[in-house]
Amino acid sequence: MPARILVISTNREISPQPVVPIGAAWVAEALSLAGFEVELLDLCFCQDPLVAIGRALRTFDPQGIGVSVRNLDTCDFLSPHSFLPEVKTITDFLKVHSAAPILLGGSAVSVMPSQILEYLDLEYAVVGEGERAAVAFFSGLLRAGDLAAMPGLVRRRKRMGAGANVEFGAAGGAPPSLPAAVTPVTHKWVDTRRYLGLEPVLPVQGKRGCANRCLYCTYPGIEGREWRMREPGAVAEEIAAAMRDTGARRFEFVDSIFNQPEGYLELLLEELLKSGVKAWLSAASLSPKGLSREQLLLMERAGMESMVITPETVSDPTLQALRKGFSEAEVMHAAELVAGSRIKALWCFLAGGPGEDRSSLERTARFLSRKVAGKDAAFITTGIRIYPGTDLQHLAIEEGVVEAGDDLLMPRFYFSQKVAPQEAIAILRNGAGSCRCIFPSDARSNYLRPLRRIGTMLGLPTPFWRYSGVLSRLSGARRMVRRFEDAGPAGKI
Ligand code: SF4
Repeated sequence: MPARILVISTNREISPQPVVPIGAAWVAEALSLAGFEVELLDLCFCQDPLVAIGRALRTFDPQGIGVSVRNLDTCDFLSPHSFLPEVKTITDFLKVHSAAPILLGGSAVSVMPSQILEYLDLEYAVVGEGERAAVAFFSGLLRAGDLAAMPGLVRRRKRMGAGANVEFGAAGGAPPSLPAAVTPVTHKWVDTRRYLGLEPVLPVQGKRGCANRCLYCTYPGIEGREWRMREPGAVAEEIAAAMRDTGARRFEFVDSIFNQPEGYLELLLEELLKSGVKAWLSAASLSPKGLSREQLLLMERAGMESMVITPETVSDPTLQALRKGFSEAEVMHAAELVAGSRIKALWCFLAGGPGEDRSSLERTARFLSRKVAGKDAAFITTGIRIYPGTDLQHLAIEEGVVEAGDDLLMPRFYFSQKVAPQEAIAILRNGAGSCRCIFPSDARSNYLRPLRRIGTMLGLPTPFWRYSGVLSRLSGARRMVRRFEDAGPAGKI
């Protein structure tokens, strides 16, 4: 009898958009391929997570439990909310109702494994991707091997006695490489229809890792500091299979940066065209650096309908402080190209980074009013979440924003001391002219539910939250929303 492993995806946040737990699905697939009997419990739409977990413990009686934590908090400077107390309720429940060993994982855990293990009072966590580490951990348990030596694992050791010393270590260093043998079959593990019903798009990953070194970013620590590309044919096969098996027609590339490293975008999209996959595509993150007219034309031909571009700021001093690796001139050049493309673009900006002042904000506002128009929009976040181990943390300590001993488990943010947050928002709002600007509060607004229905009916490019800023400002929007709410499931008005 194969050992039974229960994988629990704890994410329940559906704003700004519900996110299919592809990482947990990949781990479930890897465990299944390794010979385990696996169940994946996705808590995203559960009315009562503890009831669902209790049922899974009774019926499946797992011998090992993987718990995936996607987000630490909302990352919203103006309205921060931590998800960790909810996760603690879940892991405390597991400890009371099951003797099975628990392995923590997920992107939030990779950002600060020691702090989260301490907070949840657990022993083991995966750092980085979990496919190999989870198989090694649960196999090691069966063989009573040295779990602390498993690649990608972190173990928290408690020493009893005065001060209850806690020692962390034995991490496997860099995340293990992407296993070629595991092909993601998300819909086998996750009820993708629930996600598609809310937002008709499935995530797909062409590569992992990021070789850039932005000041504030944890991504290289989570996925690795080098690009690791999947074979384009495998990505095309994954999309074709998902279209066949789920009816999905829209796919979003959730790679760190879609147009890096140089040459991969071309290989991937040419392969999709060659294989005859006819899907609508979007990309969750593009860099202005190196973006070319030829790339945009190829993206259009391959079915790309929307993309998110992430300059974060347009002023050279703040770009340099954030270590974005490109210049204001490169952002301007990308804007010219994007304006001439049919692909809808959402430009992302971070207000309040190091060195941000009135002058740099006014430059960004001028860019918004002059360069982001018509089909395009901008998403503006204020303040930057400070994560442990990033250079932003060191800067924040130097500037007295946080104390050196702060574990940063609960949300802490950096905001330039040269300008007040409300003033920064006012400069951007007032200077953006007719540019459609979306702020995080818009992306969590009450308009999202009806917006998703409108977007699905009209076949609008996803993500739908990009339209929330517009709808909430339209006069009579509230009336329109109520009519959609009252219209019932068919959505007729
Ligand atoms: S390019 Fe994006 S993913 Fe890469 S380090 Fe910078 S912010 Fe992080």
